[in-house]
Amino acid sequence: MTDPVPFWKTKRLDEMSRAEWESLCDGCGRCCLHKLRDEESGALSFTNVACRLLSLETCRCTDYANRRRRVPDCVNLTPAAVRRIDWLPPSCAYRLLEEGKPLAWWHPLVSGDPDTVHTAGVSARGRAVSERGAGPLEHHVVDWPGRSPRPRRPLTPRPAAPPQAAADAVPPAPNVGAPDAPALNALVKEPPR
Ligand code: SF4
Ligand code: SF4
Repeated sequence: MTDPVPFWKTKRLDEMSRAEWESLCDGCGRCCLHKLRDEESGALSFTNVACRLLSLETCRCTDYANRRRRVPDCVNLTPAAVRRIDWLPPSCAYRLLEEGKPLAWWHPLVSGDPDTVHTAGVSARGRAVSERGAGPLEHHVVDWPGRSPRPRRPLTPRPAAPPQAAADAVPPAPNVGAPDAPALNALVKEPPR
């Protein structure tokens, strides 16, 4: 019997259930790094400075339930927002699917392993600093969050898990989800208006 086609290949973002939507987040943490927007040109710069609620080890939000109260500019990501915003990393699963591109082998849904986003060197683990004590964001401008990653291949690739089993195996990312609608949170520092 052939495996069923995975949901991310058959559904649009706005057709996905909440569980499917949440499982799409690879837990890379890149979207929780601060960005800077030039007031005059509108040009975007990425930094390696993480939101104070981001765990630098797990790359997940440490207080997801209260994130909007504690970090008011944490952006609620929805299917419409994915189409609108310009700062999602090129490796972000939501952006990839919105652009009609496939998920990479290291995505937890494809690999069946939540750690492959880290072991492949795609996540922010090991190269982000906390905003606590980081100093001016302008001193931390980097380009890697905005570039497509060059993932490290595992020595022995894991066999891909069946799609539904993989989705079930991936714990909900703490920086994903909302009670009533597909949503996800990420961060961008816009200049004050
Ligand atoms: S929303 Fe996208 S960029 Fe942010 S952690 Fe999830 S997959 Fe990574
Ligand atoms: S989900 Fe929001 S509050 Fe949590 S770490 Fe990311 S940007 Fe910060």
